[in-house]
Amino acid sequence: MSKTLLIKNAAIVVTMNDSRDEIKNGAIYIRDNIIEQVGNSADLPQSADEIIDASHHVVLPGLINTHHHMYQSLTRAIPAAQNGELFSWLTNLYPIWAGLTPEMIKVSTLTAMAELMLSGCTTSSDHLYIYPNKTRLDDSLEAAQQIGMRFHGARGAMSVGQSKGGLPPDRVVEEEKDILRDTQRLIETYHDAGRHAMQRIVVAPCSPFSVSRDLMREAADMARSYKVSLHTHLAENLNDIAYSREKFNMTPAEYAEDCGWVGHDVWHAHCVQLDDHGINLFARTGTGIAHCPCSNMRLASGIAPIRKMLDAGVPVGLGVDGCASNDSGHMMGEVRQAMLLQRVGFGPDAMTARQALEIATLGGARVLNHDDIGALKPGMSADLVLFDTRQIGFAGALHDPVAALVFCTPPKVAWSIINGRVVVREGHLASVDLGVVIERHNALSLELAQAQAAR
Ligand SMILES: [Zn+2]
Repeated sequence: MSKTLLIKNAAIVVTMNDSRDEIKNGAIYIRDNIIEQVGNSADLPQSADEIIDASHHVVLPGLINTHHHMYQSLTRAIPAAQNGELFSWLTNLYPIWAGLTPEMIKVSTLTAMAELMLSGCTTSSDHLYIYPNKTRLDDSLEAAQQIGMRFHGARGAMSVGQSKGGLPPDRVVEEEKDILRDTQRLIETYHDAGRHAMQRIVVAPCSPFSVSRDLMREAADMARSYKVSLHTHLAENLNDIAYSREKFNMTPAEYAEDCGWVGHDVWHAHCVQLDDHGINLFARTGTGIAHCPCSNMRLASGIAPIRKMLDAGVPVGLGVDGCASNDSGHMMGEVRQAMLLQRVGFGPDAMTARQALEIATLGGARVLNHDDIGALKPGMSADLVLFDTRQIGFAGALHDPVAALVFCTPPKVAWSIINGRVVVREGHLASVDLGVVIERHNALSLELAQAQAAR
């Protein structure tokens, strides 16, 4: 039997539909996991199995996070990695991450997802690229199912260790045949290609400086044979560009094209240093970007030319990036930083609040190849979030409550609905006991740091 859910009397429903309608006194009628009607409260059904009174709330499509490394929640603010750029930061962290266990992956993923969900995110990708001590992507997938988040699990990998000229220590890299075999197993076991899928697998070697050209090519072939997406890090900072020039005699964009890593089924994290040739290539081929402004600032990587990319037609989504280089997984906070950082680089009109919200909803959906999320309209998956406009951070900002979500203190959600299920109810996660998760997470975080100190 189907179940119905009505959200009514919303101060504003931000639809992100084709005409970008914002509906005052709005309502949304949901049947099971799908949005059936969106409109004025007076025009929609008045009864349902559950009714949420959204008076004083702004309703948005659930935000979409296109880049993360959730295990890094265990290694936030590590003293030795607080003040370096990308390569030195990684070199300090790899030996700690070598101690990760399956329980650590699961608990840190739950923690990272809880933080994302409470800050407005309903769909996330996670790029897990280090597999010591029998850890598996299955640990992340299990956490996503438990907490109820829509999830793209990206099977990352590193195969070129220090002895072969790569950056990671040899003990955290894998054999390429094992990587491909496990990736195939994950696709065949878990990937759901259908509309409203809660779980997809992505093929995702970590970066051009930690895997071989052969693996990049074979990964692309495998992804295309199964029609799954491809994801990696690209053109993150100037050292990254220098490595590409030295090892491949190519820019990162040229290397990506050479390996078959362009197309609507590919998205690259960062691209801070993508040149004009790369921007045109990505626009022409529909290759997507995960923009991670906090991480780019934290590691002093630079300011990604997002305004220019959007003008050229590059698909752009937003990502919080891993918690060791952000060290916050607050999705609405990231929307705010995306808006502010473009202004620092390119002027006060480089990005509006609504454009930043659009990247985090429609942009993310496009980058992840989902046509069923990112907007509130009939036939879409029922993923939406409600923010209470009466909280302190919005006092005096109700001239424009939608812009206030981005300009003011990054808010927490009052309600979150994912695939028709209420996962945050009156500010509290309904699917896990958050206090228990945080306590265990903190114990594991200390254990991980101490294990490295003891080695
Ligand atoms: Zn990353």
